[in-house]
Amino acid sequence: MRVRGTVQGVGFRPHVYRKAVALGLKGWVINTSGGVHIHVEGEAEAVRRFVSELPSDLPPLACIEEMELLPREPVGYETFFIHESLPADDVAVTVPPDVGLCQDCLREYRDPADRRYGYEFINCVNCGPRFSIIRAVPYDRENTSMAVFTMCEECRREYEDPANRRFHAEPNACPRCGPQLRLVDREGNEVTGDPRHYLRAGKILAVKGIGGYHLACDALNWQAVRELRERKRRETKPFALMARDLDTVRKYCHLSPEEERLLTAPERPILLLRSRGNPALSPEVAPGLNSLGIMLPYTAIHFSLFDESLELLVMTSANLSGDPLILTEEEAFQDLRDIADLFLVHNREIVNRVDDSVVTLFQGKEYFIRRARGYVPRGLKVSRSLPPLFAAGGDLKNVFAFSKGQWIVPSQHFGDLENPRNLDAYRRGVEFFRHFLKVEPVAAVADLHPLYFSTAFAEEMGLPVVKVQHHQAHFASCLADNEIDEKVLGVVCDGTGYGEDGTVWGCEFFYGDYCENERVGSLLPYRQPAGDDVQKNLAQMGAMLLLQLGWEERDILSLFPELAGELSIIKAQTRSEKLSIPSSSSGRLFDAAAAIAGICGRATYEGEGPMRLEAAAERAGGQESYPVRVEKDDMYRLSWRFVEGVARDRLAGVDPAIIARRFHLTFARGIEEMLLYLRQEYPARKVVFSGGVFQNRLLVGYLAERLLELGLTPCFHRRVPPNDGGLAVGQIMIAAGRMETCA
Ligand code: ZN
Ligand code: ZN
Ligand code: FE
Repeated sequence: MRVRGTVQGVGFRPHVYRKAVALGLKGWVINTSGGVHIHVEGEAEAVRRFVSELPSDLPPLACIEEMELLPREPVGYETFFIHESLPADDVAVTVPPDVGLCQDCLREYRDPADRRYGYEFINCVNCGPRFSIIRAVPYDRENTSMAVFTMCEECRREYEDPANRRFHAEPNACPRCGPQLRLVDREGNEVTGDPRHYLRAGKILAVKGIGGYHLACDALNWQAVRELRERKRRETKPFALMARDLDTVRKYCHLSPEEERLLTAPERPILLLRSRGNPALSPEVAPGLNSLGIMLPYTAIHFSLFDESLELLVMTSANLSGDPLILTEEEAFQDLRDIADLFLVHNREIVNRVDDSVVTLFQGKEYFIRRARGYVPRGLKVSRSLPPLFAAGGDLKNVFAFSKGQWIVPSQHFGDLENPRNLDAYRRGVEFFRHFLKVEPVAAVADLHPLYFSTAFAEEMGLPVVKVQHHQAHFASCLADNEIDEKVLGVVCDGTGYGEDGTVWGCEFFYGDYCENERVGSLLPYRQPAGDDVQKNLAQMGAMLLLQLGWEERDILSLFPELAGELSIIKAQTRSEKLSIPSSSSGRLFDAAAAIAGICGRATYEGEGPMRLEAAAERAGGQESYPVRVEKDDMYRLSWRFVEGVARDRLAGVDPAIIARRFHLTFARGIEEMLLYLRQEYPARKVVFSGGVFQNRLLVGYLAERLLELGLTPCFHRRVPPNDGGLAVGQIMIAAGRMETCA
């Protein structure tokens, strides 16, 4: 039989071995790049039981997706044994993602009598690095960066004993034979002493972990956190935290049992939790926000950084702003020499860089902001069989994907491709995935945007290129995510994307499925400044909207005194066909609202305005909203005139938090209103929601409830992020639809 799914590097073969031996069967089991192959022979009844019982009590990380029976004549084996792995063949295989340290290993790590006591690279078949150390398939030690470490006798014995927890644990190691940690200064000289001593003293450490480096400092040491901000030149973008244990998390955040389960899951994502506002925590960890991004240690290297007095660390990705994660020691010393005081490094190479995943809890499970470590390269099963395709993704928050059969495999996160270092990492990522998935795409799919680097990349692949409009891809990505195969309505609220008419889109309503879909509504277009400065200068966006509403300069200036020297230019810009462009972006509308409400006039990171607006709205109560109207020209248009209410409230001295709340409710009610009109014309029972704006929990929570009351089924993302990290999945679905599956 052939078994596919997450069945390699997760203790599946010993599981097979135990089942077979218990039933007195003979034969073998082997790992191939096409999954696990099993040959059993014996009494017919025993063979039947083997097949039916194989999927029960699987090891915790194993997951069977497919079992195929291939009847054979008995060979006459005398034992049941585990074959060495076969060289790769042409069938796809699921390489396991990296897994957080398990409880058994943690116990051994803390047990002075254990031979791995205090050993930071402890792992077993249920935990440890996987994707981040794999060079090639099949997933065997020689194909990982553990190949250079020769197992000592004891480790080898465990590795070969089917009854042992470390049986074929590919990164198996101990202090005698495995990787070693070193603490060094900026010059690379060995430093004696415990890294914790330096953290307690307020030093900043660069820490090499699983998928990259982190910068770590004591989150309760305000001076250290400020120092890190200054050295990293990172003004207000929030820092992720790592807590010693769940009790510590509870001291700083509200934590429900479901959130607790997510935090301790093998994937160990960064979870966004509501802050308790504990005054001990440095206010510079997440300025202006009420949530904290927090994770638990996921390798023993991390556990070695905590003790009684160190309970909460800043653990932020160690990269220069906008650059990819640092991989090698050379890069670390080069890039971080002015940032880190000390470097905690090791000699196990990181092959595939992979960021920490970021999630929030929604409807009982993770809702992705960033899908990376712990999840990648798990595939997504979709409702139909697909041609082999490569989808390049978008240019921001880039994630690419490949399709194969009924699977789409999205990559980790590559950041902004405008940066040549990211583009380079992306290029290598594409090669790696193509190789390990053994897929020869018949076409490349890319965004319609003529200036996207991802589009240029797709065009250079020498394959036919299929171009898909940005929001159409978002729409399809949410369909695929929910395995929907019927016609539905879709709401895509996003930053900016290139529209079919060459203008900026970003609040779009669709009706249809993969094969046929139509843009049936949008935000009423307004003019937004051309050029990239609009992402940062939110006050300018706010002023431009008010000018379009016919507001007097005097009133605008009383809202934005900082624009005193600029307003006449903005006015000219608004009238110019070149300096401003038509836009239906909801991201820019949120930016404008954040500025007009007096919450954020200038953003220092992407999404700062909307994030702070949401945080403010969460602090306020009330159900009031501004009047909202739907218009109709060639399609339904949600009018954005309600921002006038934001400005009036602000001039009247209303608390910005209350304004923020009213704005959110208004926008949500506007969407509701649009859907009421649309459903009269388009017979849909379900509504999908995609686009970066739906990272906003207030909106998502509100719409989830309201739609049910309207008799519609709201469908949100479940397996990929609503933001551009999910784009490639939708690109594949639309391209596949156009190519064949709809014929
Ligand atoms: Zn373990
Ligand atoms: Zn050893
Ligand atoms: Fe987008």
